Amino acid sequence: MAVRKVIRFPNPILKTPTLKVDVIDNDIKKLVEDMFETMYAEDGVGLAANQIGEPLRIMVIDTTPKKESPPIKLVLINPELLHAEGTIKYKEGCLSFPGLTVEVERYSRVKLKALDLQGEEKEYEFEGFPAIVFQHELDHLDGITFIDRVNGLKRRLALERYSKLQKQYSRG
Ligand SMILES: [Zn+2]
Repeated sequence: MAVRKVIRFPNPILKTPTLKVDVIDNDIKKLVEDMFETMYAEDGVGLAANQIGEPLRIMVIDTTPKKESPPIKLVLINPELLHAEGTIKYKEGCLSFPGLTVEVERYSRVKLKALDLQGEEKEYEFEGFPAIVFQHELDHLDGITFIDRVNGLKRRLALERYSKLQKQYSRG
């Protein structure tokens, strides 16, 4: 297991849609371990494989730090949204945009299917925070980041805030 480097905006890898996983072999299992370890090291609650440079449709989620009940800890391989309804607004963060939060509107309830690490297809229903995390990570797998979910002035201000934050981070 290893903590991997998280790719930051505006790296073009984040804009590139990922590919379906064909076979869940030992390399994939090792990648999933690295994803969990990297997510925990960065205090995240979700991570998409392309955020550590692997262009595959895999995400990990662990909402435990948010004190959600019940906490959701999952690996979702080749996830597909089946149904979505309602709306919810939440100030989201993203490991690929250190320090930036942006209020995004998403569906409040989602139904989805995905393969687990054993290759079994399962269906899930999430509501509230886990639904937000799932949609944020699904966007990553499609090459979409959270600033693509806001527009106009809101998007421009978020990008300006982010570029200031980056200067702060690079000064150390
Ligand atoms: Zn993100």
